[in-house]
Amino acid sequence: MTKQVKQENDKCVYARKCGGCTYQGIVYEKQLEKKQGHVIHLLKDFGKVHDIIGMKDPYHYRNKVHAVFDRLRDGTIISGVYEEKSHRVVAVDECMIENKLADAIIASIRDLCKSFKIKIYNEDSGYGLLRHVLVRTGHASGQVMVVLVVSSPILPSKNNFVKALRKLHPEISTVVLNVNDKRTSMVLGERDIVLYGKGFIEDTLCDCVFRISPQSFYQVNPVQTEVLYNKAIKLAGLTGKERVIDAYCGIGTIGIIASKHAKEVIGAELNKDAVKDAIINAKRNGVKNIKFYNQDAGKFMAGMAKDGEKADVVFMDPPRSGSDEAFLSSVVKLAPKKIVYISCNPETMARDLEYLYKHGYQGRDIYPVDMFPFTEHVETVVMLSKV
Ligand code: SAH
Repeated sequence: MTKQVKQENDKCVYARKCGGCTYQGIVYEKQLEKKQGHVIHLLKDFGKVHDIIGMKDPYHYRNKVHAVFDRLRDGTIISGVYEEKSHRVVAVDECMIENKLADAIIASIRDLCKSFKIKIYNEDSGYGLLRHVLVRTGHASGQVMVVLVVSSPILPSKNNFVKALRKLHPEISTVVLNVNDKRTSMVLGERDIVLYGKGFIEDTLCDCVFRISPQSFYQVNPVQTEVLYNKAIKLAGLTGKERVIDAYCGIGTIGIIASKHAKEVIGAELNKDAVKDAIINAKRNGVKNIKFYNQDAGKFMAGMAKDGEKADVVFMDPPRSGSDEAFLSSVVKLAPKKIVYISCNPETMARDLEYLYKHGYQGRDIYPVDMFPFTEHVETVVMLSKV
């Protein structure tokens, strides 16, 4: 196991209330052991579970920071996270896993709300304007995107607000107003209005540049994402001759990185903004052997199977809920030699691996990667080959 930092009783002051980091107060080395044990418990029957790959510095890794805004009875504006299983806001000024600059920007926005008399949205009454702030930072590029989630599309003196914010934080590359006028627990609404800059940021992963829009999924731990992707691509053993599928491809990261080592790549993704980003990302990186489809991955694969298409390698990286039978049964019909399954939830992964096992695939190498230090979450990549 990699050598890790040795903080004892490394406990955050918000730990009890926030509920975000369930491994607070546990030495990092022990956190890794717990995750390793969990993955072994769930996946040991599906291949060799290698040592978990941890972080050298497990702090402030989150490149995406979300803060919900609230106003106390005395008028104080607070921002932070919802208390576990409630809609009470726990005020958080600084978090040990979040990007520091993002936290500082959010604190500045709190102050600016006062001077600009911006009303904070009240969930019960539906009155007020500012609901959430989302800050995304490019780890390699240093670019910063601020998304102000508001209940109506008009931010009073918006130009001066942006100017004041940028004066405090010149690192900010773009500011977007996201309109969420629904009574919902979803953070983002559908409409984005660019107030400053390009409306997206770019970041570099594995030598490729990626554009990230407010609505697109992007891995939250950029350091470990490179570790994960490199591992996944190595496990696929590409030679340049393969036809590859990147299912649940998001903004096309894995497929675009893999495209240099493959003949052809096909990506499928449900979120239309992510697919738009993916198409632009392919162009941006001069990749010509990749195509993206904006479709449910299961339906897409079923279509491929129906048309009698084949693939040599399938990368799949579904959300926490895992994949579904439509997808898995079609993968079996496409009969790739290798499947590289990446998952942020070993429970649903175990369920899906069971299906693939029953249908002619065998797991070889299993690598847990710690993408989420101080939380109980663990990412795992598994390579399966056709028996
Ligand atoms: N591989 C990408 C994204 C992984 S996250 C990366 O590493 O960045 C999972 C992705 O699956 C998200 O982009 C989400 O929008 C997408 N998704 C969720 N349900 C889906 C479905 N039914 N079909 C296709 N994509 C789906």
